[in-house]
Amino acid sequence: MSTKKHPKKIYLPEEEMPKFWYNIVADMPSKPLPPLHPATKEPVGPDDLAPLFPMELIMQEVSQERYIEIPDKVREIYRIWRPSPLIRAYELEKALDTPAKIYYKYEGVSPAGSHKPNTAVAQAFYNHAEGVKKITTETGAGQWGSALSYATQLFDMELQVFMVKVSFYQKPYRKTMMNIWKANTVPSPTDLTEAGRKILAEDPDSPGSLGIAISEAVEIAVQDPQTKYALGSVLNHVLLHQTVIGLEAKKQMEMADAYPDIVIGCFGGGSNFAGISFPFLQDKIKQEKDMRVIAVEPESCPKLTRGEFRYDFGDTIGMTPLIPMFTLGHNFMPPAIHAGGLRYHGAGAIVSQLLKDGIIEAKAVHQLESFEAGVLFARTEGIIPAPESTHAVAQTIREALKAKEQGKETTILFNLSGHGHIDLGAYEKYLEGSIHDYSVTDEQIAENLKVLDEMGFPKA
Ligand SMILES: *Cc1c(COP(=O)(O)O)cnc(C)c1O
Repeated sequence: MSTKKHPKKIYLPEEEMPKFWYNIVADMPSKPLPPLHPATKEPVGPDDLAPLFPMELIMQEVSQERYIEIPDKVREIYRIWRPSPLIRAYELEKALDTPAKIYYKYEGVSPAGSHKPNTAVAQAFYNHAEGVKKITTETGAGQWGSALSYATQLFDMELQVFMVKVSFYQKPYRKTMMNIWKANTVPSPTDLTEAGRKILAEDPDSPGSLGIAISEAVEIAVQDPQTKYALGSVLNHVLLHQTVIGLEAKKQMEMADAYPDIVIGCFGGGSNFAGISFPFLQDKIKQEKDMRVIAVEPESCPKLTRGEFRYDFGDTIGMTPLIPMFTLGHNFMPPAIHAGGLRYHGAGAIVSQLLKDGIIEAKAVHQLESFEAGVLFARTEGIIPAPESTHAVAQTIREALKAKEQGKETTILFNLSGHGHIDLGAYEKYLEGSIHDYSVTDEQIAENLKVLDEMGFPKA
């Protein structure tokens, strides 16, 4: 094979790094619904969010501008790992004996090993610019906490991370990363907050959840004007920052003389999926490109495939505004799968609207299938994917095998959102044969959603 005509890796020159993020809201046929105040059920305005976020991020949250400039300082930091490579998965294609062309964008090259620093650096920048001294946040598997630790110390800001208790003990190296980057990390629920104390009183052995940790971080932030809160997914401004992934990928696909028929991303709160797919969705919406765009979630936390589109809290306790989203109910406790970053009860407002309008589709994958895909990927392409990312790999393999069955030359692009070097404990369990699938019954989901009816939350 001529390496010149068929490069394995497509590197974008540094000077080609995007200067703007892409805001899909400008091009959406139906705009996302506004968040509501939980008491009044009236739309929340920028002022309601001011205790939590710096004004520039709030403006991005509600913006309808198509392109938003990436500050020079943020681009300068991005240069440490961006542009990230686009890689043709020749070895995986061979192993699957598929006519499909498989490309992946690799975000594991960042300092924290995932796509999350793309928004962490931007959020730290805007907070610092508005004089914020301290940030609070939550983290599940620790990817977001480590990304934000890296970013806040670059700007000499303090960071307090509420880490979901099961992960705190399961993933001690994530905590070490956060400590290297100077963050103060505590296992949530804690007795530092009202929200944490309430949970501990009910269940002293609570393993914690992302929703509980969010409640704790928000509670600390609202008490101090110099402290703000940062979220690693779900919100519009977070998705916006991640579009640097897809904007680069678009240029790189062009360099490879290719265009995707299918774009795939794994789905927790939607940020890496949005990052890879939104710039391509612009073509689908505006040029009516015949393209499938697939969000992949775990079967054990199936908000997109089996949830309901309606208003719900973003957290467990009910500190956040009501967000219009596909949700399993804010009190849904997902089983303890290893893809911790995908254990979130809802989706973002933009992605939910796109799904409702049939512009994107969603699939669910069981844990065993995802690990099997991750191991095949590691044995062929050499990179050990994060357990979250293996869901995108699994769906890519499904599509590649379908292409083989149909004898169809399909071009697939997926986002490899991170590497799994800090998640080897999970792979060890898989190799030992002690990983199991979890299912959620329709009754469990209905039970959780009934609570939202009782609380009078409107359907979207
Ligand atoms: C956090 C995380 C995810 C899930 O979050 P999204 O906001 O849906 O992208 C996926 N992959 C990796 C590697 C992560 O760290």
